[in-house]
Amino acid sequence: MKQTRRMFLASAAAAGGVVTILPITARAASHGMGGDMFETDAGTITVHPVHHASIVLETPAGTIYVDPVGEAALYEGMPAPDLILVTHEHGDHYNAETLAAIMAEGTTLVTNPAVQGMLPPELGEGAIAMANGDTTDWEGVAIEAIPAQNVTEERLNFHPPGRDNGYVLTIDGFRIYISGDTEPTPEMLALTDIDLCFLCMNLPFTMTAEQAAEAVAEFRPAAVYPYHYRGQDGGTQDPETFAELVGENAEVKMGEWYEPGELG
Ligand code: ZN
Ligand code: ZN
Repeated sequence: MKQTRRMFLASAAAAGGVVTILPITARAASHGMGGDMFETDAGTITVHPVHHASIVLETPAGTIYVDPVGEAALYEGMPAPDLILVTHEHGDHYNAETLAAIMAEGTTLVTNPAVQGMLPPELGEGAIAMANGDTTDWEGVAIEAIPAQNVTEERLNFHPPGRDNGYVLTIDGFRIYISGDTEPTPEMLALTDIDLCFLCMNLPFTMTAEQAAEAVAEFRPAAVYPYHYRGQDGGTQDPETFAELVGENAEVKMGEWYEPGELG
């Protein structure tokens, strides 16, 4: 059902209420391709907020996809991935069919150990598993696996301790933190010198807007995208509330993660 719904974008023209239906490829071409650009010492980094938890980063070290799921058409027109990071096994983060459709020759796949154990053989070959706390180097980019987990007692079953990852990427000194699905952990709050981060919000699975803003006040990233903030069960968090609570503590970046009226 979800797949079918995402095949088309219905957008009501503001003036006349005329509804135009665009194929998803047109959406990718019209809305996904521009991206937000960050000038760094390493060169330009372009952020494409694809959908919900799926991100494409064009960097001087190569093109990095984070948690790519959904129709392969969502990624059409973007450079093929040189590196794919998968945070954990949930369907809004990991989809073997999407991976098989978008992986190119020479793509490096990094996952948490649980996902590595689920990969079909053709994807598993050569995939790198990183457990919480692991570090590795890819093309001069330092990758750190940061624990991603719930900490509230009644939410522990969603993302139990020790299983899932967030990632910190250091590209020539520019540090990007992708939270994955998590609540504030000691490891998150101890992060330093984060230039750009992606912070999840939605209940009951991850954080409230308040928790996310409190975390920002603690580890002080320079810029932060709220992402993963809608939930199909109504556990939606308002990114504007988050932005108000963050105030001067960081620059809040808004991405077009969802279509108007769409739930996560
Ligand atoms: Zn999850
Ligand atoms: Zn999720």
